Amino acid sequence: MPDSGEDVNGQRPRVVIVGAGFAGLTVAKRLAKTPADITLIDRQNHHLFQPLLYQVATAGLSPADIAWPIRSLVRHQRNTRVLLGAVTGVDRERKHVIMDGRNIAYDVLVLATGASHGYFGQDRWAAHAPGLKTVDDATEIRRRLLLAFERAEMESDAPERERLLTIVIVGGGPTGVEMAGAVVELARKALAADFRTIDPQQTHVLLVEAAPRLLASFPESLSCHAEQALRRLGVDVRLNQSVTECAAFGVTLGDERVDAATVIWAAGVTASPAAAWLAVAGDRVGRVLVGPDLQPPALTMCSSSATRRSPMTLPARHSPASPRSPSSRAPTWPQSSRRASAARGRRQPSTTGTKACSQRLAARPPSSRSDACSSRDG
Ligand SMILES: Cc1cc2nc3c(=O)[nH]c(=O)nc-3n(C[C@H](O)[C@H](O)[C@H](O)COP(=O)(O)OP(=O)(O)OC[C@H]3O[C@@H](n4cnc5c(N)ncnc54)[C@H](O)[C@@H]3O)c2cc1C
Repeated sequence: MPDSGEDVNGQRPRVVIVGAGFAGLTVAKRLAKTPADITLIDRQNHHLFQPLLYQVATAGLSPADIAWPIRSLVRHQRNTRVLLGAVTGVDRERKHVIMDGRNIAYDVLVLATGASHGYFGQDRWAAHAPGLKTVDDATEIRRRLLLAFERAEMESDAPERERLLTIVIVGGGPTGVEMAGAVVELARKALAADFRTIDPQQTHVLLVEAAPRLLASFPESLSCHAEQALRRLGVDVRLNQSVTECAAFGVTLGDERVDAATVIWAAGVTASPAAAWLAVAGDRVGRVLVGPDLQPPALTMCSSSATRRSPMTLPARHSPASPRSPSSRAPTWPQSSRRASAARGRRQPSTTGTKACSQRLAARPPSSRSDACSSRDG
């Protein structure tokens, strides 16, 4: 099989980066002026700003507003080439990645392939409850949402009209909370005056969360704040309830059947198969366990003993392992106006749910209120 890395100058280390999301693109950018030959591989031809996907899904932005061609982003990096393709494996012995039947040789490999939706083993639910990770996901959700309103406008059967105007969001993490706020604003503001038969303000938006609170990985005070804000917007927040079935009619929450034309999945993520490619340990959702140098411990030993080409030497400030490396800085995120307004929750008076949330928070001893903020669920 031809080795697509053969055209790279033999003296310079070959860095292969798989994935041009935030992580992969940042690595490529930081290596722009280094004496290395960089190959940036992605199965999409665009880099995507995922935090604004929910705005595309609710017709607030168009896909082109949040996606940029990877080629144009590295156009001026003379040491970087871009390949479009899906990586399906890594041959650690021969040091190449396998992409669409080709072998791409590397001296240094960066796997930055992100995550996708996880349906807790119920993969058949995917057809009924799309998640929100890609532009295609966002446009599919937008299509389903807008079509449901159109069909409701022409529907004479009241229960079916109610089903069309019911939207269930599964998962009360950051994505679910954002989506719930955005969907309710779409229905109650953006579309409010556009229909003659139905009243989009009557749309029923349910946010279902299996845990006792929203945003479980954030401090409890923020969970309460989000819950209160969503209830004020009119979202039907269901805590301690799990989806037990997801089908064409809608969802089942234990014994309760909820007829809903649109179901959006925001309940779980699963890592890319990188752990399997490397034959190293993954955690419960498949994330590779790495050390402070972002290498799996087992690989640190393997790669040094298996190196056939000269190891990559880069200026210290560019070394990915350096704690002072610019690439180790966390990115900052813009606060969208919708998200900010949902968080401010300044519209209507409190509800029973709001009081319940405050009482729950007040009743908990301070020591039991988690202030540890960890990564989002995606
Ligand atoms: C709806 C939503 C809202 C979010 N909001 C926020 C927020 O407000 N703040 C925040 O900090 N984070 C937010 N996040 C999380 C943030 O977007 C992710 O943490 C971040 O995108 C992860 O970056 P990454 O580079 O690791 O992976 P990704 O951005 O997922 O990039 C992975 C890349 O790898 C490519 N790829 C995957 N598999 C292969 C393969 N086999 N072959 C070739 N290419 C492959 C993909 O096409 C993709 O381009 C949000 C996420 C979502 C989904």
